[in-house]
Amino acid sequence: MAKIVVTHQRDKCIGCNYCVELAPDNWRMSKKDGKSVLLNSVDKKGFHTTYIKPEEEEANRLAAKACPVNIIQVRS
Ligand code: SF4
Repeated sequence: MAKIVVTHQRDKCIGCNYCVELAPDNWRMSKKDGKSVLLNSVDKKGFHTTYIKPEEEEANRLAAKACPVNIIQVRS
């Protein structure tokens, strides 16, 4: 099965909440700093990365499209 990778360049997040609305299974807003959090992601030099399930791909692609600062990447 092909792996689907999502990356979030978190330091550039403006906290608009679109990703949380569109893909609530994978995203939350942080109460600490008002930026979104990609659930279960690993931070490597500011790029937070995780694998998602195939059924979550479409929602995350929509989130990537909607993100106003274009910091969400979905690869499969
Ligand atoms: S859509 Fe983009 S800018 Fe908005 S909260 Fe999500 S990652 Fe941050």
